[in-house]
Amino acid sequence: MSMNCKVVTDIAELYYDGSLSPETHKAVHQHLGGCRNCRNYYRQYATIRKQKSKPAFSLLPDEEISETEKRLYTSLSEKLRKRRFWNIVGTSAAIGAGSVMLTIGLLLTYKKENSEE
Ligand SMILES: [Zn+2]
Repeated sequence: MSMNCKVVTDIAELYYDGSLSPETHKAVHQHLGGCRNCRNYYRQYATIRKQKSKPAFSLLPDEEISETEKRLYTSLSEKLRKRRFWNIVGTSAAIGAGSVMLTIGLLLTYKKENSEE
């Protein structure tokens, strides 16, 4: 199966996506191997597609991203743990103080009621 340049450039997109049938894919591959014009065209097309599909943040290599994320997550969870600790301390202190106040309040009310009688 031989292909002309028009067909190859027309289906370059499908070739790039890998959605051609194996036979057609092979034919395009062979044509690109032997035709410099189509090879240049396809190379340019592939470069554009690569740039388009690349999300902005993936300018960093994958390992660097996961390292940064890991560091971020570690420091974040440490902060959260500390905050949780102080929340627990604060809450139990508040509950403690509250129950003391409540006891004093009840005692005072009780005493006042008794002395009024
Ligand atoms: Zn060609």
